[in-house]
Parts: sequence; C-alpha cells; structure tokens
Amino acid sequence: VIEISKLSTSFGDHVVHSGIDLEVRRGEIFALIGGSGSGKSTLLREMILLHRPDAGSIRVLGVDLQALDGGDANGETLALRQRWGVMFQHGGLFGSLTVQENVGLPLREHTGLDDALIDEIAASKLAMTGLEPKVGAQYPSELSGGMLKRASLARALALDPELVFLDEPTAGLDPESAGEVDQLVRKLRDLFGLTIVMITHDLDLLWQLADRVAVLAEGTVQGIGSMSELAQMDNPAIRKFFDGPR
Ligand code: ATP
Ligand code: MG
Repeated sequence: VIEISKLSTSFGDHVVHSGIDLEVRRGEIFALIGGSGSGKSTLLREMILLHRPDAGSIRVLGVDLQALDGGDANGETLALRQRWGVMFQHGGLFGSLTVQENVGLPLREHTGLDDALIDEIAASKLAMTGLEPKVGAQYPSELSGGMLKRASLARALALDPELVFLDEPTAGLDPESAGEVDQLVRKLRDLFGLTIVMITHDLDLLWQLADRVAVLAEGTVQGIGSMSELAQMDNPAIRKFFDGPR
C-alpha cells in the first residue's frame, strides 16, 4: 500500500534522508524506528502529504504523491486524505471541542452527513476504541493520557480509513495503559484488516505487534524485517536497539 523509492530530503544543508527505499504491505503493522533526529517523523509527514521530499518517489494507496498538484483543495488530494487516518504524537485534539465533537470533525469536514448521523458515527468510533459513551461529552483536558490516545485514535478512524499512521502511540503511558493501546492496535489489524504504520521507541510494542520494522539511520534504511530477523543482523546501527539498556 506504500512504496517509497530513492527518497531524499534535506533542510538547508542538513541531509535527513539520502535514498530511502521501503514498502509497506497491505494488512501489516509496519514500524519505523531510529535514533532521535534520524528522520522518522519527517518520513511520516512525507507519507501523509505534510512535507514534500526533494527527490524520489512515494506511492500511497496507489497514488503517486509527487504527481498531485499540491493544493489541499485538489479533488484527488482530498479523496486520498480521507483514505488514511493519523494519530499524532500529542493527540492533536482541539481543547475547545468535546471528545465526541473532535472525533466527528473529519466527518463534518469531509462528508455531507447530518449532525445526528455524525454524532452516531463518532460515538461508535469511541466505543470501538473502548471509551465509555460519557467520555464523548468531556473535554480533552479532562482525560488521562491513555484515554487521550484512544480518543485521537477514534478520530483517526472516523472516516473508516484503510491505512492508519500512529506517531508514538504508547509514549508517556504507564505500562497498563500502553498494554491496552497495544491490544487496540492489534484489534485494528486483526478484526478490521487495517494497515498500520507506526513510529515507536517502545520495545514491548515492537516485539508484540510489529510484523516488520525498518531501522532508519544516517539517512537510509539500515535494515528491514521482523524483530527477530533484525536481532540477528550485525549492523551496528541496528544492534544499538537490541544491546542498549531497556
Ligand atoms: P525524534 O525521535 O526525536 O522524534 P525523528 O527521527 O522523528 O526524531 P525528525 O523529526 O524527522 O526526526 O527530524 C530529522 C531531522 O530533521 C532533525 O535533525 C530535525 O532537526 C530536522 N528537521 C525536521 N523538520 C525540520 C524543519 N521543518 N526544518 C528544519 N529542520 C527540520
Ligand atoms: Mg519524531
């Protein structure tokens, strides 16, 4: 569902990506790991049309992103954006809206559905992520970290995407809440057949959930495979993740 080839990105004279090649297969949980500053978030932003690489190609859901003519108002761009959902690292919910309004927002923006139906769908997405109905009426500031993650996942699912991007889904959570998010992501793949691309530093999450993992360092993909395959590789940039303190 995603094919990236010879992608390069620089900010001024700081080279972040110098030839990234990878593909994400339909129905898998694909993880992106790498040290701080290795370009994971930038790569994610490039996959969701928030940043344009300098060169190379990115195809997402069969569409060549470079061939899109930029502007968000472009019909093809809009149609594509509705086919993926994104859960940003810090949740990205609007503090002035209730949780249910936040979840309904993509529906309000992208569909002509009436308010009653939007509320109904939003409530069903909250239920899907394991939040009680009363949480819908609360404001983001009233939620715990784990509930916020669930709510932002519910919003990412609002438009029934085929592909979901997660930036650090368990960061900042206690082990129990992290385990719950873990179960939830697994459910999205197993029950709903979603393809999931996630950035994470969470080794438990990687071992338990990731079908394949790409290690980013020095501007390129140093290795790609299951965690047990990566654990066998003797590339120092990869070893770092397995030998370091946990
Ligand atoms: P972290 O694990 O800390 O989140 P990361 O792998 O996500 O790191 P990126 O955020 O992709 O790293 O950043 C990669 C490099 O690109 C960093 O050196 C960062 O300073 C630089 N960078 C990212 N965005 C910009 C920008 N808009 N302008 C200038 N430099 C940027
Ligand atoms: Mg980042």
